[in-house]
Amino acid sequence: MGKPLRVLIVEDSEDDAALLVRELRWNNYDPTFKRVETAQGMSAALARGPWDVIICDYNLPHFSAPVALMMVQQSGLDLPFVIVSGSIGEDVAVAAMKSGAHDYVMKGNLKRLVPAVEREIREATVRRERKRAEEALKLFRTLIDRSNDAIEVVDPETGRFLDCNEKAWQDIGYSREELLSLRVSDIDPTIDPPSFSKVIEDLRKSGFLISEGYHRRKDGSTFPVEVNIKYVRLDRDYVVAVVRDITERRQAEEVVQRMSHYDTLTGLPNRATLYNHLLNAIRTDAGKGKPLALLLMDLDRFKEINDTLGHDRGDEILRQVGRRVQEVVFDRDIAARPGGDEFSVLLLNMSHSKDIDVAVDKILKALDPPFLIENLPIRIEASIGIALYPDHGQAAEILFRRADIAMHISKRVGSSYVMYDPAQDKHSPQRLALMGELHDAIEHEELVLFYQPKVSLKTRQTIGVEALVRWKHPSRGMIPPDQFILPAEQTGLIHPMTRWITAEGMRQCKVWHEAGTALTVSVNLSARNLLDPKLPGQVAEQLKSAGVAPDWMTFEITESAVMADPAHALDVLMRLHEMGIRFSIDDFGTGYSSLAYLKKLPVDSIKIDKSFVINMVGNQNDEVIVRSTIDLAHNLGLKVVAEGVENQDIWDRLASLGCDEAQGYHMARPLPTDELTRWLGEPPMERTVT
Ligand code: C2E
Ligand code: CA
Ligand code: CA
Repeated sequence: MGKPLRVLIVEDSEDDAALLVRELRWNNYDPTFKRVETAQGMSAALARGPWDVIICDYNLPHFSAPVALMMVQQSGLDLPFVIVSGSIGEDVAVAAMKSGAHDYVMKGNLKRLVPAVEREIREATVRRERKRAEEALKLFRTLIDRSNDAIEVVDPETGRFLDCNEKAWQDIGYSREELLSLRVSDIDPTIDPPSFSKVIEDLRKSGFLISEGYHRRKDGSTFPVEVNIKYVRLDRDYVVAVVRDITERRQAEEVVQRMSHYDTLTGLPNRATLYNHLLNAIRTDAGKGKPLALLLMDLDRFKEINDTLGHDRGDEILRQVGRRVQEVVFDRDIAARPGGDEFSVLLLNMSHSKDIDVAVDKILKALDPPFLIENLPIRIEASIGIALYPDHGQAAEILFRRADIAMHISKRVGSSYVMYDPAQDKHSPQRLALMGELHDAIEHEELVLFYQPKVSLKTRQTIGVEALVRWKHPSRGMIPPDQFILPAEQTGLIHPMTRWITAEGMRQCKVWHEAGTALTVSVNLSARNLLDPKLPGQVAEQLKSAGVAPDWMTFEITESAVMADPAHALDVLMRLHEMGIRFSIDDFGTGYSSLAYLKKLPVDSIKIDKSFVINMVGNQNDEVIVRSTIDLAHNLGLKVVAEGVENQDIWDRLASLGCDEAQGYHMARPLPTDELTRWLGEPPMERTVT
């Protein structure tokens, strides 16, 4: 069997056509052919195609090779066109070839036919392929030009731009030609020739590099970019940079950064920042023997004022109180708004403890003149509680708690300020007794885990649950974690407690998985857990004996827990992460947010603190925080869980902001296992909110 060949023969003589076909057959071809002899026949045959080759007589009674050739060219086909003629002279043949015929063969010398056809088919194939490659290249170029990222090709020797896509020159306001006449150092303010060489040297070693920097526009303005650089060796060496404008990400970062350190209403430091200042002061002043005083101030009847005058006016009063307090304290002291209608002043560098009286006096006097709200004079009174370092406690948390106790006493007895007095603190002895009992509670199995679902805002499916511990005290009833976690941390009991919680959480996780409910279980870790080098090994063992995959478990950690001792915490985190355990940043927004640091942590998600979520509908500041946090997290490739979702409005707002998961009383309170299992069985729309 010969090779198939589709031949269009333009020839008036059937005999001559038969001769051509025979010649092809002799040379091992199996031609399918069509013979035409008029323009109509030709155009019909071309339309029907496809053809491998056209063999054309020169002179026909009603047609001719030049016309046939023109028709082929007009149809846009690139087909080998071979003229076969008995009569044309050399000059005519040459003219035909000039106008596009590929070869000619004399009828008397048909031996040349097959080699000519073969060569022309080969060349046509090459031409077609080249055309296809050119088109593909053009398409590719267009796609690259339309890319969201700027792409720059740079000469590693000179730093000159060799090529770039459209986005690259548009982003910085140059024309393509202008950009191609520049060097990297012309548009990157952080790069000069020596540092460029250094970058190239690093690149040669590592192959690629991701960094953040700046680009300078033609008008001199700069914007932050993330640069993804690769060293490419081809015919020569190239550096290819993919550059992304991260202005929006930076803005979101700044908003979150600011929001998480300052109270947006008064501009004063918030609780986290105040706490940090206190920690710092303890650390630096402790050795100098200088006393510190922490004042906590609560506005009397503020809730009433807020309710009768409305939120806006309430906010206005808070702003004015903030301003007045700030004005009367010394610059070195720190006025803050830890939350709600509470203000706080940290008195630093005091020489006498009577300085406290002076300060308190100034603050109370400052609040004395009535506040004018829309020309209405409003009187505000305050109750102040004071705790001293080191007299009333060595640790920041304890000072906070004791100032708080003093403040409540001040409120109760109606005096404007009260210094903490251990005799009045009923909390302490009770707490000590409780700690004694907690020790046994773990062994006596008095701890229980409640579970609160995390629900996907997109699919409404329950993705996982957070395990929240409770103490089922034989005589005192159910004790919430707030009352025993911190003391457990202070006494070291947190270690056996966490060991029990992780084991129990895994056991329950396995039960659900075996019942066909693939829930992930989140467990909260305390700061001291993160400093426990035995934790990763212990968790690994527990996973193994429970038969639980590491990625079914998530650990929730707070930034402050990590920041307490970053180096050691990170070590424990990394070991757990390498095992496949997921991490989530808890209470995001209240911490000591070091975003630069957050990027280094092996976390998969963050939980926006409920204090922002609860008020986000109706409170613009909180909504901005929530929105910025979501944007920022997504920019960093993290999932966002919102806790404190207490109603449908919050749910709807979060869904519209693109938040991933929600947790809160609106879906379910933390529930005992059996109740949660029942809850899971109910259709999402009919669940009873308890
Ligand atoms: P968290 O980790 O921020 O846990 C969420 C807390 O918010 C839970 O309080 C939960 O009941 C509450 N909550 C959930 N939804 C809503 C809502 O819609 N509105 C409001 N207002 N609150 C909501 P819970 O169970 O009292 O836990 C308090 C804290 O105790 C936890 O805060 C966590 O820091 C700590 N904790 C709880 N269980 C454990 C544990 O097993 N280990 C450790 N180390 N800490 C735990
Ligand atoms: Ca948590
Ligand atoms: Ca939380």
